[in-house]
Amino acid sequence: MMTIQAKSNIPTDFGVFTMYAFSENESDWNPHLALVAQNTDFSKTVNVRFHSECITGEIFHSKKCECGQQLDAAMKFMTENGGVIIYLRQEGRNIGIINKLKAYALQEKGFDTVEANLMLGLPADGRNFDVAVEILKILQIQRINLLTNNPDKLKSLENSGVILERRLPLEIDSNEVNESYLVKKKDYFGHLLERV
Ligand SMILES: [Zn+2]
Repeated sequence: MMTIQAKSNIPTDFGVFTMYAFSENESDWNPHLALVAQNTDFSKTVNVRFHSECITGEIFHSKKCECGQQLDAAMKFMTENGGVIIYLRQEGRNIGIINKLKAYALQEKGFDTVEANLMLGLPADGRNFDVAVEILKILQIQRINLLTNNPDKLKSLENSGVILERRLPLEIDSNEVNESYLVKKKDYFGHLLERV
């Protein structure tokens, strides 16, 4: 059973967060994380972001996606308004960094983000947000506003016991590299993007 393995304060450029690590056992080196902004009251409606790991975008500032900018924007938002970022270890829409690099190599040959995954025999999007709902329950959060453009994340809350009050959009402007990727997100995955 997944539990809180450890927690500690992390001062960041945006503000202080309390970081929680969740896993089934202490020896798990890739636990899911929750970053809780100061002045977040779990008994009220809590602003929440489900964010899946993207090492290329977040650590190395890859321009192929907008994950790093979304994480920064979410940290800024939570610092200003209170809330929780649930950071899920689902690298590359849950295909892992090796497969993600393979898919990127196919994209260099002209295939798009969905075609590349399918050519590798992988799902277009293998993420699952049930674990994020489980973390909300461990934290005893019952009502949320979800910071997302992704309808799958909204769907994961249906019949979950956690009440979704509002969706808060988290839209990042495209750059010269990721425009077609964002178009695919909108047209194929149905993401709620107004600016694409
Ligand atoms: Zn990314």
